[in-house]
Amino acid sequence: MNIHEYQAKALLKGYGAPVANGVPIFKAEDAKAAAEALPGPLYVVKSQIHAGGRGKGKFKELGPDAKGGVRLAKSVDEVVKNAQEMLGNTLVTKQTGDAGKQVNRLYIEDGADIDRELYLSILVDRSTGKNAFVVSTEGGMDIEAVAEETPEKILTLPIDPAAGVTADDCVTLCDALKLDGDARADAASLFPILYKAYVEKDMSLLEINPLIVMTDGHVRVLDAKVSFDGNALFRHDDIMALRDKTEEDEKEIEASKYDLAYVALDGNIGCMVNGAGLAMATMDIIKLYGAEPANFLDVGGGASKEKVTAAFKIITADPAVEGILVNIFGGIMKCDVIAEGVVAAVKEVGLKVPLVVRLEGTNVELGKKIINESGLNVIAADDLDDAAQKIVKAVKG
Ligand code: GDP
Ligand code: MG
Repeated sequence: MNIHEYQAKALLKGYGAPVANGVPIFKAEDAKAAAEALPGPLYVVKSQIHAGGRGKGKFKELGPDAKGGVRLAKSVDEVVKNAQEMLGNTLVTKQTGDAGKQVNRLYIEDGADIDRELYLSILVDRSTGKNAFVVSTEGGMDIEAVAEETPEKILTLPIDPAAGVTADDCVTLCDALKLDGDARADAASLFPILYKAYVEKDMSLLEINPLIVMTDGHVRVLDAKVSFDGNALFRHDDIMALRDKTEEDEKEIEASKYDLAYVALDGNIGCMVNGAGLAMATMDIIKLYGAEPANFLDVGGGASKEKVTAAFKIITADPAVEGILVNIFGGIMKCDVIAEGVVAAVKEVGLKVPLVVRLEGTNVELGKKIINESGLNVIAADDLDDAAQKIVKAVKG
């Protein structure tokens, strides 16, 4: 789960990290009071969406010459004008895709005078199996581009889980970021704070891009992007309360109610599969035959008829879906349960697109019988290869 920048900053501030004062607003009428609560004379008006690259982003409605999604303002009036222009419009950034995201919240922040922009993140380093700091002197820009063009400017430092962030680690990180004086002291106390927040709140990513050195020599967290491990959310009611469902895919929200492992994708073939490995293989083979999956969906092992029905409904509710492939290898999951779920769902919502079903494994004969006697217009398939070819052909034909 992701949260907004202003929420992440409030969280980090609670741990003692240096962040600017700011006020989130939902309506342009509140911009004036928000700005007046800050000292000025420099303000920042920041679009709050769950995507990065806002500064360089463009508002769909405002044309290519308008300013981006993060704007500096030099007076309360300018804050108000920008807020009126930005709220309610659609921001397109490198991370939102062409559709963009509607800006429903702004963060009005006390502006900083920047000397240097640095990069810092904490994430799971799978090669060492530890949490690691990733830092670079090249902050404020696309870290993927830095990694591509000048990888020597990025340092990855795994943290020993027993020792935590040591004094030696702080020296290594400060050296990599070329920090001295006040900035070095600030950063050395900031690293353990960030690590503590990351571990205690079960984050999977804490990215600060940029971490800045201000002209007064002190360090400040200027941007904050935080993702949480969904499997640990049950123990963080405070984090769950920050969830903004308008930022999430409706189909994924519905799927999460039924504990389905579902990810919406861009293609036109809806997939219902059991087992993450088989789901991946199914997506691969659809691509091999020249089409694109509309989703990843693993209905899991002990799925009930109700769960399968819900899954099928989520797939059919996607207007991009032009064909459905049900691919079940029944082990723990029984083919007859899948068949019953599919039939029940179709009875409720109808079937407007071709459906290919491939069943194999436990209770396969019973499953096939249920489908065959249902009167549904189903294209039967013998194996995975046959099923993929049939659904791609049905969609393309
Ligand atoms: P992002 O584009 O979504 O990553 O949003 P950021 O919060 O990182 O802001 C983008 C850029 O705006 C930063 O890299 C800074 O260059 C600039 N910016 C943001 N806040 C301030 C500020 O307080 N003062 C100044 N001078 N620039 C800022
Ligand atoms: Mg940023």
